[in-house]
Amino acid sequence: TYVIGAPCIDVLDRACVEECPVDCIYEGERSLYINPSECIDCGACEPVCPVEAIFYEDDLPPDLEPFLADNADFFAVT
Ligand code: SF4
Repeated sequence: TYVIGAPCIDVLDRACVEECPVDCIYEGERSLYINPSECIDCGACEPVCPVEAIFYEDDLPPDLEPFLADNADFFAVT
């Protein structure tokens, strides 16, 4: 899955939302989130993000690794 990290916080540019062919990018209060069970790993969202907040899960910089769980948690049923 692709993952949205810290640079998105309070930016929510939404260019990625327009680009995603399966509409799996959702809006939270302070960040956008990618639903890992819906993402098809097409990579279309990554280059359009103006703040470079999107990474493939295996390419996350170490400081953004917690966002893998963060994105998944956003969609967890509580
Ligand atoms: Fe959507 Fe593709 Fe980005 Fe996954 S990689 S969130 S399917 S645009």
